[in-house]
Amino acid sequence: MTTLLLLGASGDLTSRLLLPAVAQLLQRDPDLDLDLRGAGSDPWDDERWRRAVADAFASAGAADVARRVSGTRYTTADITRVDDLAGLVADVDDELVLYFAVPPAVAASACEALADVTLPDKTILALEKPFGSDEAEARSLNATLARLVPENQVFRVDHFLGRSTLLGVLGVRFANRIVEPLWSADHIESVLIRFDESLALENRARYYDRAGAMVDMLQSHLLQVLAVLAMESPATLGERDLRDAKAAALRATHIWNDDPAHASRRARYTAGRIGERELPSYVDEPGVDPDRETETLAEIVCEVRTARWRGVPFTLRSGKALGEDCTEIVVRFSPVRHIPDGLTGEPSDGGVLRFSLGPDAMWLEMNVNGRDDPFALRRETLSLELGEGGVRAYTEVLGEILERDVTLSVRADSAEECWRIVEPVRAAWRRGDVPLEQYPAGSHGPGQWPTEAPRGEIS
Ligand code: NDP
Repeated sequence: MTTLLLLGASGDLTSRLLLPAVAQLLQRDPDLDLDLRGAGSDPWDDERWRRAVADAFASAGAADVARRVSGTRYTTADITRVDDLAGLVADVDDELVLYFAVPPAVAASACEALADVTLPDKTILALEKPFGSDEAEARSLNATLARLVPENQVFRVDHFLGRSTLLGVLGVRFANRIVEPLWSADHIESVLIRFDESLALENRARYYDRAGAMVDMLQSHLLQVLAVLAMESPATLGERDLRDAKAAALRATHIWNDDPAHASRRARYTAGRIGERELPSYVDEPGVDPDRETETLAEIVCEVRTARWRGVPFTLRSGKALGEDCTEIVVRFSPVRHIPDGLTGEPSDGGVLRFSLGPDAMWLEMNVNGRDDPFALRRETLSLELGEGGVRAYTEVLGEILERDVTLSVRADSAEECWRIVEPVRAAWRRGDVPLEQYPAGSHGPGQWPTEAPRGEIS
């Protein structure tokens, strides 16, 4: 039996993502024996907690397995206090998973406090992003964790690594002769990793106003995606090979030309409309402090300084309150060296491979001969709709935690590298070297941000 203790059990992450994942895991595995518990600072009782669990299970279409955790209990606790923490784990002598679904500063304080608590030997610590608030904090938190449990019992969760699309990219990249040999600066002109959301703040100012788009998305999720795209081919997808390969890619990653003022942009949304929704300006959202100058849209250009990638811009971009959801990886191939005279039309690239990060889909845009005039080039797209992955990203993540498989979690060194990569940009923004631009909610961002060349251009 594994005891899964969710810390921050009354919070958004627990109800919206973790509990549905628990439900899906129970559905998937009839033999899974789980002692589910919740704890947090809200003064809930068992009945209130059980209601939250039942609601979350129902939302995941898994009400049928709720009875398997019907005895789940909730404890009100301040997890930064040694006594409260000790009380939470006092009767657990078996396998324990402590999942920190709390703000990052609270998780860090709780880990400090854990030094004075006796934990079962096999305790797993699962921490959410952002991991610390800068490189120094990430280092210090890693040192604290290393004093508590071995590295392979620490899960720095990045649920993007559990996304079926990202795992699908590995197959496409490594198993196809028409892709694998082309995966380098010799053939690829640019890579864009983009996560545009139409969702706005959704009452999450308490967290988001201190994080912003850069820390919320680029520093964590999107750099993990970059690592998977840019890494050298690992011998196996085992924990050590995969995480070594990703870490090496991140170590080689730098802001383009080491020039954050030109290789980064930031913006904040103003009032606007998305579909039927009227949105206020970000600065007028409850809980926002305008003086923090938090960006709701961020873009950075990185370079992976290796023989494979030198000279290829990797653009990472993410924002909120945009006109449409657009979550994709765009791999743009360089134009071919020569098109025979007699074929008309100048393709702007040598084709594009596009992956959507949910619902899963893949497109290959190709330059082909025209139907009416076989000597005139035009653009066509081969598409593959893969639908929603069968398993939610958090189900994948939580399943790996319960199986004690750290392959898809972020290793200590990578967590530090990700802060190192973005630090020059954050410093430039603090100095005011990069203006905070504006865009109306529901637009595609500031007008002068052409993130990539338009699709399928043939002139
Ligand atoms: P919330 O603010 O919704 O929830 C945090 C929970 O922690 C609240 O229940 C809060 O209780 C509790 N808490 C705060 N301080 C303490 C304390 N000292 N002792 C015990 N409990 C405490 O945040 P989220 O759930 O949104 O986020 C949690 C973490 O997950 C963050 O690191 C976030 O970055 C990460 N994350 C969140 C995602 C999401 O979609 N929500 C997605 C990916 C990651 P109280 O309300 O009483 O303060």
